[in-house]
Amino acid sequence: MPQIAKSETQFDALVIGAGAAGLFYGARAGEAGLRVLVIDHAAKPAEKVRISGGGRCNFTNVHTAPENFICANPHFPKSALARFGPQDFLDRLARHNISWHEKTLGQLFCDGRSGVIIDMLLSELYETGGELRLATLVHGVERTGTGFRVGTSGGTIEAARLVIASGGLSIPKMGATGFAYDIARQFGHAVIEPRPALVPFVLEGREKEDFASISGLACPVRASNDRAAFTEAMLFTHRGLSGPAVLQISSYWAAGEAVTFDLLAGLDAAAALTAFKAEHPRKSLLTALETLLPNRLVALLSARGEIPAVARMADMPHTAIEALVEGLSRWTITPAGTEGWRTAEVTAGGIDTDGLSSKTMESRIVPGLYFIGECVDVTGWLGGYNFQWAWASAHAAARA
Ligand SMILES: Cc1cc2nc3c(=O)[nH]c(=O)nc-3n(C[C@H](O)[C@H](O)[C@H](O)COP(=O)(O)OP(=O)(O)OC[C@H]3O[C@@H](n4cnc5c(N)ncnc54)[C@H](O)[C@@H]3O)c2cc1C
Repeated sequence: MPQIAKSETQFDALVIGAGAAGLFYGARAGEAGLRVLVIDHAAKPAEKVRISGGGRCNFTNVHTAPENFICANPHFPKSALARFGPQDFLDRLARHNISWHEKTLGQLFCDGRSGVIIDMLLSELYETGGELRLATLVHGVERTGTGFRVGTSGGTIEAARLVIASGGLSIPKMGATGFAYDIARQFGHAVIEPRPALVPFVLEGREKEDFASISGLACPVRASNDRAAFTEAMLFTHRGLSGPAVLQISSYWAAGEAVTFDLLAGLDAAAALTAFKAEHPRKSLLTALETLLPNRLVALLSARGEIPAVARMADMPHTAIEALVEGLSRWTITPAGTEGWRTAEVTAGGIDTDGLSSKTMESRIVPGLYFIGECVDVTGWLGGYNFQWAWASAHAAARA
C-alpha cells in the first residue's frame, strides 16, 4: 500500500502505537472524519498480529462476554464489548474477502497468514485518509491549550486528541515498552502493577527435573484455584508447565500460590478403575491407570510416590480407589514462578480503569487523552479475546 509522505505537524488525533488497537482506531476515527496520524517506534506495524495465533491470528472469539476478561472493575469492559462484538469484526473481514474458520471453543482464525489482517488494518487506515509513520521515537508529551504537543524523532506533532495504544510489556524483544504507563502516571493516572499473563509456569529442583523427563507430553486437565478454573490441555515442558489450561490459570495466579490440577478431568475414574478391577483383578494399578492417563505420566507419578505400588487390583479396596482418584483430581503444584515477560502473551494489570470512561476510553483527568488496547487494565482469556478487546476499545474511543 503506497504511503504518501506528508510533512504536516497538526492532526485531529495522534495515535502512539501502530498495533492492533492503534491501527483499528486510526481507520475508525478516519471514517468519522478525523485527520489521524499513527506513529510507532518499530520499523514494522502490528508485529504481534503477525505472530499471533501461530501465524494465523486468532482475531476474535464468538463467545466473547465480559466474563472472559480480567479487570479490577469487572463492569468496565461491558460497554465497549457490547458496542463492537465479534460479528462486527467479521463484517469487516467480509468486506476484505478474508476467509476464516473456527478452530475450537469459539476461537476464530484466518484461513491464510495473519498478514491479511495487517493488510486490512493498513488499507482501512489509508483509505480513510490516515497516515502512518514508523521508526518514530517519542521524546516527550505535553499538554497545550487546545490539545497535546508531542516531541518525536521526526519533529514536533500537535493534535487535539492523543490516543495511547502502545500495548503492554510482554515480549520486550518485539519492542514492548512501558510507555503507556509512563504517560498515564505523567497525567495523574493510577497504574495497576503490570504482571505477565497467559504465561507458562516454571518449576524448580526435583519437580523441574522430574517433569522435564516427560517434556512434550500433553494431557487434558482442569486447572483451578479459588478464582478460576479451565478445562483444557496441559503440556509438560523442560522448564515446567504450559499448554492452554496453564496459560489461562496463570492470568489468575500470584507468586507463591498453589494451583490444583484435576488430572482425571471429565472422567468417572472411580467407576472406570472399579470396572477394571472386576475384569482384571490380577493386573496392576499402573496398568489400570494407563487406561486413563498417558503411560509416561503414570510411570513418573509412580516413581515420585504419588501412585501407590499395588501389584494386583484385587488388593485395592474401594476406599483406596477413591483416595487415589481424590489425589489425582486434586494434584497440586506450587510453581516457582512464570517464564515472565519473555514469553507472556499478554500483560495483566495496566492503566486503572477508574480513571477512564468505559464508553469512550477517554481520561477522566485529562480531556482528549485516550488509552486503548492492552495497556488498559483489561486482560482477555486465551482464545482471541485480547484482539477483541483491542478492536472494541479502539472502536469506543473513535466513536467518542
Ligand atoms: C506470541 C503472541 C501471540 C498472541 N496471539 C494472540 C491471538 O491469537 N489472539 C489474541 O486475541 N491475542 C493474541 N495475543 C495478544 C495480542 O497480540 C495483544 O493483546 C494485542 O496485540 C494488543 O494490541 P495493542 O494494539 O494494544 O498492542 P500491540 O499490538 O502490542 O501494539 C503496540 C504497538 O505500540 C508500539 N510501541 C510500544 N512502545 C512504544 C513507544 N514507546 N513508542 C512508540 N511505539 C511504541 C509497539 O511497537 C507496537 O507496535 C498474542 C500475543 C503474543 C505475544
